[in-house]
Amino acid sequence: MAITVKGPIVEMDGDEMTRIIWNMIKDKLLAPHLRMDLRYYDLGIKHRDETDDRITIEAANAVIKHGVGVKCATITPNAARVKEYGLKQAWKSPNGTIRSILDGTVFRKPIIVKNIPPAVRSWKKPISIGRHAYGDIYRSVEYKVPAAGKAELVFTPASGKGGVSLLVHEFKGPGVIMGMHNTEKSIQSFARACINYSLGEKCDLWFGAKDTISKTYHAFFKEVFDREAEARKKDFAQAGVAYRYMLIDDAVAQIMKAEGGMLWACMNYDGDVMSDMVASGFGSLGLMTSVLVSPEGKYVYEAAHGTVMRHYYEHVKGNPTSTNSVASIFAWTGAIARRGELDRTPEVVAFAKNLEAVVVNIIERGVMTKDLAAIAEPKPAKYALTGEFIDAVAEML
Ligand code: NAP
Ligand code: MG
Repeated sequence: MAITVKGPIVEMDGDEMTRIIWNMIKDKLLAPHLRMDLRYYDLGIKHRDETDDRITIEAANAVIKHGVGVKCATITPNAARVKEYGLKQAWKSPNGTIRSILDGTVFRKPIIVKNIPPAVRSWKKPISIGRHAYGDIYRSVEYKVPAAGKAELVFTPASGKGGVSLLVHEFKGPGVIMGMHNTEKSIQSFARACINYSLGEKCDLWFGAKDTISKTYHAFFKEVFDREAEARKKDFAQAGVAYRYMLIDDAVAQIMKAEGGMLWACMNYDGDVMSDMVASGFGSLGLMTSVLVSPEGKYVYEAAHGTVMRHYYEHVKGNPTSTNSVASIFAWTGAIARRGELDRTPEVVAFAKNLEAVVVNIIERGVMTKDLAAIAEPKPAKYALTGEFIDAVAEML
């Protein structure tokens, strides 16, 4: 008996090897068990080109309307891709387009499997990272000071009244300066998305900055986070999770000794650096999921990796591939579970959790693709091909 998923899920199809995996997951793992109301948007590169990329905007708007989306990895075209696919132009990154329409924040979360040990011994549960993707050094202006002189920070109000000028430094010789900014609106959206994620995932929220040194800039981030968390105090209590502010160096030290199971909200640069550290610490890109959350609580789930082009070219030549489908499967289970929570259909949530458990269990029994076989302990005698892994999951479901 198939389970009915009541509300709609916005499905965004993609490119290359992940598009092939996508179809296998739908045919073998989902269709036999679920009746879903899928709103299908083909974000494959050819269809984006045919629609002058309008399809991406339509898909993002559908997520705003329905609240839950699941996205396959897509090609972000560069000059080589424009030639390869004969495109009208190098269309923008679909993820960038969707992120800006939803004003969302991307959270990355690793999938934990017992026989793929993390580099850090204490890590037992996933550490999710939320990176503020606006401003700071990524939107800064810089200047290489050639010789002695005075550097000032000048603010001219639009109203014309009450400008400010602060001395940055009196240079006695050559040096360097930088001016950076952020906006209250962007920090607030980020804080709200982090709070939504932490409440949705029922995990503690950590936020670290350096407000002892940067008493205005970093302190402003802390103020906004404190204020937004205070406004959702009841929801935190109800979810049984906590918001913690700490100094960024303290947060780093504590992460290395922690069990995991928290969302670590990071300022832009910290998130850039720390997400790569945490991702490589947990092992493989094939085990990393990613979810875009808007300040209004709309979700798009996907795998953190790309379209796995190299494997696709092998596949096209007729050679066997061993591409890891786990993060794509978890993108689907994330969206399905989210839908089930919104619709209050526990049997749908249970199906998603069971599928996740089956996938983890199969890997723990030694059935895994080549990327994992290389880092598993103990190493399996042989690795599974792309289709073999999905068939093994289907059989155990
Ligand atoms: P990629 O698809 O992430 O793959 C890079 C390499 O990582 C692969 O060649 C493979 O290594 C390994 N890998 C990644 N995912 C794997 C999986 N599921 N199973 C096994 N191995 C996996 O990055 P890319 O090749 O640089 O990019 C290809 C296309 O993806 C580009 O057009 C890019 O624009 C796009 N992209 C899309 C997204 C997205 O939609 N979210 C994100 C990133 C990139 P080996 O070759 O060593 O086996
Ligand atoms: Mg980085």
